[in-house]
Order: sequence, then structure tokens, then C-alpha cells
Amino acid sequence: MVKPPFWNNTKRYYDLKSYWINRFGCRVHKLPIDAGFTCPNRDGTVAVGGCIYCDGRGSALRRAGPLPSVGDQVRRGQAFYRGRPKAEKFIAYFQTFTNTYAPAEKLRTLYDEALAEKDVIGLSIGTRPDCVPDETLALIRSYAERYHVWLELGLQSIHDRTLRAINRGCDAAAFRDAVRRASGGPVLICVHIIVGLPGETREEIIATARELAALPVQGIKIHSLLALEGTALGGRFKRGEVTLMTREAYVGTVCDILEILPPGMVIQRLTADGYRDIFLGPAWAGNKLAVLNAIDRELAARDSWQGRKHASALAS
Ligand code: SF4
Repeated sequence: MVKPPFWNNTKRYYDLKSYWINRFGCRVHKLPIDAGFTCPNRDGTVAVGGCIYCDGRGSALRRAGPLPSVGDQVRRGQAFYRGRPKAEKFIAYFQTFTNTYAPAEKLRTLYDEALAEKDVIGLSIGTRPDCVPDETLALIRSYAERYHVWLELGLQSIHDRTLRAINRGCDAAAFRDAVRRASGGPVLICVHIIVGLPGETREEIIATARELAALPVQGIKIHSLLALEGTALGGRFKRGEVTLMTREAYVGTVCDILEILPPGMVIQRLTADGYRDIFLGPAWAGNKLAVLNAIDRELAARDSWQGRKHASALAS
């Protein structure tokens, strides 16, 4: 048994950069967009206060003053990447807060504005599973028929006990329903999970991955749990009420996850980063490159790769 040749890379998982090159024959960059959305888990529609790890500040751009238009943000992002080698195509990544939290016509205006920019070949839309009504999905599907479109669903954990503990304001049933309604068409689904949520065992984390491995999901972002200043979790961390994962446990768990995911699932992220001004811990998470290198080393030590246990995991 060997790692899948279609990755065309030297890695032990199917990374996003390799996927772009395979799909489009060139480098593609995701341009983060803050389109001014809020979140139903913060404004009282679903809950107040938000998820316990969410800092609620929005993007750095939003904090700096009036938000530039979506078109301006795309052009600024392109200018940044054009200075780097081989940046040819772009995906507008609606990233900040809940990017489907508006009537469909407002969404259409914002998405159209991004797609009107030169060399933008598609959208990536980050949202919550409970915020994709059929009308919104129909709109997103209409773009996917003409562009490359990802719907990024924040799941975090498949366990309702955990979702309640982190004040997610959304349950696993809503996630399963969103995947069922969004799948089967041209929209690609990327799911976000967090490894190291309070009270979750390694087996429970693996159960989340095992369910994703069996769903029509084409991409995944795996984040480490970060304690940030100004969040409920950060407060508990400073009071010594929560213990965050060690790097060794995180790396081992991520490798366990990778082994059971399907080989074709695109690994869009393997750790969390950013938030330097409010970062509290765990200390090791501040060095993203070291975490990625440790994951590479662990997979090599196991002589393993993404998908090596996929078939047996689904059978068991
Ligand atoms: S759903 Fe996202 S934006 Fe909303 S509170 Fe949770 S982490 Fe923050």
C-alpha cells in the first residue's frame, strides 16, 4: 500500500496548495474578506456571548476603521500576493463571522462584487450549519455552477455535550442537515473542527473525524484550541480552570485523524494561528511551523499518511 499518487506532492497528506495546482495548474490564493457580517451566536438570535473561544472582534481590518468595500479588499489582497511568485488566480474567502447571515439578495450583491474582480475564480464562504437556509443554498449553488465554490461549515465537534459546553448554539443534527442539503451538487463542503475542546477525550475527537470520513465532505480545517484574552475560555485558562492540550497530544491526535480521513479530502489547515496580540496559550501553538513539522515527523515515524486507515475505519 502506498500513498495516493494523484496528490502529486511530497507530503503525507493532500494539502490545499497541491489541490489547487492539480485542479487549476497554477497557484491559487484565498483572499480573506470581512464583509461586515455579524453572528447569530453573538447578537442574541441564537445565543449571546458567542462560542467560549471566540474573541468577537472581527478582522483586523474592521478594528482599524470603516471597512473597505469587498472589491477594495479583493484588490488589496491581490496586490499583496502579486508581489509573490506565481500568484495567478484567487478565491474570495468570506471569512469573518457568519458569511451567510443576511437575506439572499444582500448576499448576492456581496458575492457578485468579489467575483467581478479580475482573476477571481470562485468563493469560499465560512458559516454556521444553522445559517444556511434553502434559499441561501440555492444562491450558493447557482455560483458553483459557474465558479469554484466552497462552503465552509463550522462543526468543531460532533458531540452535542461538547457543543453545549462551548456555547456553540448549534447541534450536530443541524450540521448533518446542512451537509445533506448542500451536498450532491457542485458546492464543495469544507468542515472546520477543533482538537482539544474542554472535556473531550481522544476517542471522542476521533469519533468526530470518523463521521466526517463517511460524509460527502471534500475538505477539512483542523484547528488547535487557543485561549485568547477577552474570551470566556481565556478567563478560565488564566484562572487555571482548564488545561489545554500538549503539543504531543495534539500532533498524535491530528495524525490519527488524518489516517482515517479519505485520501481525496483536501486538508486546508492543520493548526490555528494568528491572534498574536491576545494569545494566551498553549505556548506551543504560537509556532505554527513547528507544529506542522511535528505532524510530518509523526506521520513519517508511523510510516503513515492520510487515508491509510480510511477503509478499515469505515468498516469498524
Ligand atoms: S459561530 Fe463563529 S463568529 Fe459566531 S460566536 Fe462562534 S466562533 Fe464566533
